Amino acid sequence: MSRKLLLEHAEIPGITTYEVYRRQGGYRAVEKALKEMTPESVLDEVKISGLRGRGGAGFPTGMKWSFLAKPEGIPRYLLCNADESEPGTFKDRLLMERLPHLLIEGMIASAYALGCRTAYIYIRGEYKWIVKTLERAIAEAYANGWLGERILGTDFSFDLHVTPGAGAYICGEETALIESLEGKRGNPRLKPPFPAVSGLWNSPTLVNNVESLCAVVPIVNEGGEAFSAIGIGRSTGTKLISACGNINKPGVYEIELGLPVEEFIYSDEYCGGIKNGKQLKAVVPGGSSVPILPAHLILKTAAGEDRLMSYESLAEGGFVSGSMLGSGGFIVYDEDQCIVRNTWNFSRFYHHESCGQCSPCREGTGWLEKVLHRLEHGHGRMHDIDLLVDISKKIEGNTICPLGDAAAWPVASAVRHFRDEFEWHVREPQLSQQRNFGLAREAVAV
Ligand code: SF4
Repeated sequence: MSRKLLLEHAEIPGITTYEVYRRQGGYRAVEKALKEMTPESVLDEVKISGLRGRGGAGFPTGMKWSFLAKPEGIPRYLLCNADESEPGTFKDRLLMERLPHLLIEGMIASAYALGCRTAYIYIRGEYKWIVKTLERAIAEAYANGWLGERILGTDFSFDLHVTPGAGAYICGEETALIESLEGKRGNPRLKPPFPAVSGLWNSPTLVNNVESLCAVVPIVNEGGEAFSAIGIGRSTGTKLISACGNINKPGVYEIELGLPVEEFIYSDEYCGGIKNGKQLKAVVPGGSSVPILPAHLILKTAAGEDRLMSYESLAEGGFVSGSMLGSGGFIVYDEDQCIVRNTWNFSRFYHHESCGQCSPCREGTGWLEKVLHRLEHGHGRMHDIDLLVDISKKIEGNTICPLGDAAAWPVASAVRHFRDEFEWHVREPQLSQQRNFGLAREAVAV
């Protein structure tokens, strides 16, 4: 049974309210940080913990914090990235729905360490009902003296606001989020300058994911070393994984990093195996923007070792035979799922969400969608398959923000691992739209 650092109290009735949260030991981390620790020592504990950004990039949080510029007389901002829009990822939603005070507590302790007086939770527009949950919890925190002027009688004052986005995936990219927060169209900015130097209203700004900020609470309470003792190698602590697709128990699971992928998919504690006794076909392990892996490569690395739920193990083999932990959106496909249809579906999403600033992304995502559409709808040609690879290569690494890569990687990896399925769509155009790919293939084999 995995230890639970974030979701330990998630099932307790009334935990969204201040009284119940406080009764469970809530706001201890703020008391400890403000009364017993200096901002520097909070930062040190986060560094020692080895916590890595839980939004997808996996960059060490303590190092990111230490990049925040501290010029005299200029305000610094802390932004919580709650614009969770990656297909297959819904873990921050659970944290905010069930444990709004955990996020507020994590943000107070983080703001204290960073010297921020003001912070914003930028939440995706589609999470409308959670805005109310957060606002209620923030009002309770103000009423009980955890937010506002001179918290706990110290010199530290802190204000927290919630700002809903308007429903654009690209606003999850930190500079697009900042543009949107400033009231402009959410277009990613060219970097440098990085937000840590010049972010919101040209001030030093730190953007962290919901889960990363929540993880600061157990790190302050138990110490960075206790956090780093959980996990494996440079993948420390626990991680929330949102599991979906053809599994018996879809949901959000808090796992200790280093858990074998096979155990995560098949054990009753987590996904409970593949639905209807079907065979596992493939997994997208880190949200729609990471490479897809066929069953044999998600369970074992190319070297024959058990694949683990960790940043390093999932990336083992690079993009030839590996993938990424990403945002922890774990999408499972059984033997009946059509990889071409699924890839087309992802491409439609990225084409729609491209902000259009850079040509490789604006034009390339459109071409990927168009070519995949004709393959899926029975009008594909054999050379379309290499065309997909060529377009993906021309997008990758040639764009302002990571959306371009996010659109290219799923396509390139699908062709790499399932080329025969793409060829089958060209050879059997009349069956290419068949929803149940397993049955369609069987029909031809018979
Ligand atoms: Fe916009 Fe795409 Fe360029 Fe990102 S990569 S800035 S989404 S056009």
